Amino acid sequence: MNDELEILRKRYARERLIRKQAEQIAEDKSRELFVKGQQLEEAIAAERLARQEVERLSNTDALTGLSNRRYFNVVSEREFGLAVRHKKPLSALMLDLDHFKLVNDTYGHAVGDRVLVEVAAVCLQTLRSTDLCARYGGEEICVLLPETGSAETSPVAARLLEAISSLAFEADDRRFAVTASIGVAERADDGDSLPALMKRSDDALYRAKKDGRNRIVISTPSMETTPAT
Ligand code: GH3
Ligand code: MG
Ligand code: MG
Repeated sequence: MNDELEILRKRYARERLIRKQAEQIAEDKSRELFVKGQQLEEAIAAERLARQEVERLSNTDALTGLSNRRYFNVVSEREFGLAVRHKKPLSALMLDLDHFKLVNDTYGHAVGDRVLVEVAAVCLQTLRSTDLCARYGGEEICVLLPETGSAETSPVAARLLEAISSLAFEADDRRFAVTASIGVAERADDGDSLPALMKRSDDALYRAKKDGRNRIVISTPSMETTPAT
């Protein structure tokens, strides 16, 4: 009888030990899993940030920090569609620096780059955050202004010209300033398209250049020349 009791006691002790060891293993494993889970969450967050950064860079012009043309094309299509659907005004503003080649030729490309950076900063300061401002070409900046007709875009364009011509640059111990020309066009109510709107703003810019530069030209129906492709 005593032997049987002793056997039972030993078995009980052994089982308790095994249970304890199992509990310890389970606890270690769960701590390990928790740490691994945390590491995984951190890795996922870092990957998400990296992906957002890659996307931001692919939409951004490296020199000026403005949106690039590719991004402008994508977003402007969306904005144009929204404006048509909700019958809202929408304007396009095309800005080109005057005689910019002369700045490069006189002061060098690096100074020209500095001018572009400062002009871009002025654009961002002057425009609303809902306006889409992009570097469209070398020294050409394009802005899409949602919910804005050309009558409201005109004072914005005037503020831009004023702010740009007020920038003071210095190079080779010489001070100089730059000017810009702007063409503005507004979405027409019927049968308009984004390429046609862009072309009208470009035609207006061309007219501003032809008329002497450092000015704003608002597109009018009589100004339209060839149809947009
Ligand atoms: P206009 O008044 O008719 O616009 O004359 P412009 O000299 O500004 O026009 P043009 O198209 O002849 O010259 C544009 C110049 O812009 C030429 C090109 O070297 C310069 N450019 C384009 N991209 C950059 C850039 O990223 N940095 C610098 N520094 N210059 C650039
Ligand atoms: Mg130019
Ligand atoms: Mg140009």
